[in-house]
Amino acid sequence: MIEIIKDVNSMMRRATALYEEEAGVALVPTMGALHEGHLSLIREARNWRPVVVVSIFVNPTQFGPGEDYASYPRDFERDGILAEHAGASIAFAPSARDMYPEGFQTAVEVSALSAPLCGHYRPDHFRGVATVVLKLFNIVRPEVAVFGEKDYQQLAVIRRMAEDLNLNVEIVGHPIVRETDGLALSSRNAYIAPKERRKALCLYRALTEARAAVLSGEPDAGKVREIMIRIVRSTPGASLEYAAVADPRTLEEIQTIGGETLLALAVKIGSTRLIDNMVVSAAGE
Ligand code: AMP
Repeated sequence: MIEIIKDVNSMMRRATALYEEEAGVALVPTMGALHEGHLSLIREARNWRPVVVVSIFVNPTQFGPGEDYASYPRDFERDGILAEHAGASIAFAPSARDMYPEGFQTAVEVSALSAPLCGHYRPDHFRGVATVVLKLFNIVRPEVAVFGEKDYQQLAVIRRMAEDLNLNVEIVGHPIVRETDGLALSSRNAYIAPKERRKALCLYRALTEARAAVLSGEPDAGKVREIMIRIVRSTPGASLEYAAVADPRTLEEIQTIGGETLLALAVKIGSTRLIDNMVVSAAGE
């Protein structure tokens, strides 16, 4: 049976006991509404350490004003069952009050990596993410933490934080899990009405066509960006936030393609914001 821990102090006591008995803990941070993408991270974590803690916390500080914090899908009962079947030993689901008691005022800022791409449209998002992940590391004391490449910028921010702050946690990235038609799994897909779902495929189509251009040797990043923009703009009901051709390490936009290239997209389908990405090696590299 999966152990459910709902408060920070109990989790800290449990984590200290696990640490002292050298149990070997891997953490999978999530916001719940678990799907196959999250479950693949739990299974990956099992390959790294015997005790997998999955945290389920819809973190208010990573949502901006007017974003979907209040309506974000929450189904804790179902999450517990799914996490257990995937091999998690502990589900840690604290309240916002417990994570951010009155007087809370500290934040972690990973400056340059948080600025482009999603950071441009969600200015405080990665500060909220980095801060809550550091808190989770301190509470759970994992040796390993597993994150999805679906949130590519988030993974880059967390890796940087772990290195800059000498955190004793190995950060593991795991590939994007997609539906058979290519749509990246996301808790936010639940917002998309069945008749709008086809529109959501424009992200995958745009990335696949852009990737094909890179693989066939297109050196001009602007042209590759245009391919993605054209596909999204020609999809009724889809509105483009950004289409980026960037350096996968710095996340800065590039002009000329050479070596590894990050293709990244944020698109709104109605009011639902979706992101997706691919990393491609340029032809001949
Ligand atoms: P979230 O609950 O959306 O905050 O995501 C929790 C973790 O699951 C993050 O590390 C995400 O990158 C990862 N994740 C979400 N969707 C996917 C997916 N389709 N494939 C792989 N990992 C994912």
